[in-house]
Amino acid sequence: MSTRTGRGGWQDDHLRVASLRVSEPESIAGLCRHRPDPERQVEVIGYYDETPPGGRKSNPYHPFVWCCHCGKPTHWKGYVIRDSEDDLFIIGAQNCGRDHYGVHFEEAERAFNQQLRRQRALQRWDYVQLQIPIVTSRIDLALHSDELRQIDEARQAFKAASSDCYRQIVRHIQGRIPLKRRLSERDYDAENKRRRQFERSIVAFNAFSADERRALRRDGLAPVEDHDPMFREWTEDYGQIEGGEFLIEEDDLRSRLLKVKSAISAIEAVAKLGTANVQTTKLSRLVADFRKALEDVFSRNIGLGFDSFFFATENVARLAKWADGFDHFGIEASDKGLVVIDRARRRTNIPRFEAAAFPIADELNAIAREIELLAS
Ligand SMILES: [Zn+2]
Repeated sequence: MSTRTGRGGWQDDHLRVASLRVSEPESIAGLCRHRPDPERQVEVIGYYDETPPGGRKSNPYHPFVWCCHCGKPTHWKGYVIRDSEDDLFIIGAQNCGRDHYGVHFEEAERAFNQQLRRQRALQRWDYVQLQIPIVTSRIDLALHSDELRQIDEARQAFKAASSDCYRQIVRHIQGRIPLKRRLSERDYDAENKRRRQFERSIVAFNAFSADERRALRRDGLAPVEDHDPMFREWTEDYGQIEGGEFLIEEDDLRSRLLKVKSAISAIEAVAKLGTANVQTTKLSRLVADFRKALEDVFSRNIGLGFDSFFFATENVARLAKWADGFDHFGIEASDKGLVVIDRARRRTNIPRFEAAAFPIADELNAIAREIELLAS
């Protein structure tokens, strides 16, 4: 048949417009109503599913569809088949095909399911082709946007200001680790208490006779005053850093935007030659990679939406208190953002920027959602 390809299926262009699912199967033009000759070759060319919403439980009297094998209405689901003499039949989906035609029917069923899968893959593929121009222009806009430039500049400035401070903060953000600081101070109360105890034991010691005191001294039991300073230690917890995802370089928004571009390049390289000789699994994988890349832009972008909180007064105060615990860097609030101070007391201003969430991310995510819907 002219519409078949070497892969044993329909040509893609035919498959794109073919209605593989039929409704009202008993009304198909030219449908034969006799029992088919089981010796003939058979091909599945469509399917039907007349299952009413709610299934059998809610629809005990919903009429079944006639089946050429059973010779009466017995199923809600089944196949449209054509035999080697071009006779058309409908047959129930459970075991009727195999019962009637034997194992050959399973091959026909498998071939048809491959066509179904390919048709869905082509629908997603074609949808993606339509979206590529708009996605490409959005990505290019984002890559050259002021927002992305500000993110890059703030990160570079932070890194250059104090690489150690930068590394520690990134570690806290990535691990969602609260900022804590170990503090200690001289514990005079404890030292006074210790001295009073010593004084009491001296009084007790002096109450012994000279001989007894000598014996106690010899056995190391005479009181000795301890003059070592005593310290009180505690931990202050300043809570988690708010925002600051822009500081994370690994897998950042720029690289995620570039990943969308490379997913598009991979698709375009295949699209240029046409889909005819491309495996269904490859088409699906290219589309899935593209969809994933769009979702990744969206998820990273949600984090960036919180970045203005990083420069909020409370958050900067938290960072400053935590940084006080280090002697080789410090953080101070400034009216422009925050200041990082390095070991040599060099001050670098990290300018505050407004929430850098890109509105395009929602648009990209909507396209990802649409691809997902087409896949189901
Ligand atoms: Zn049947």
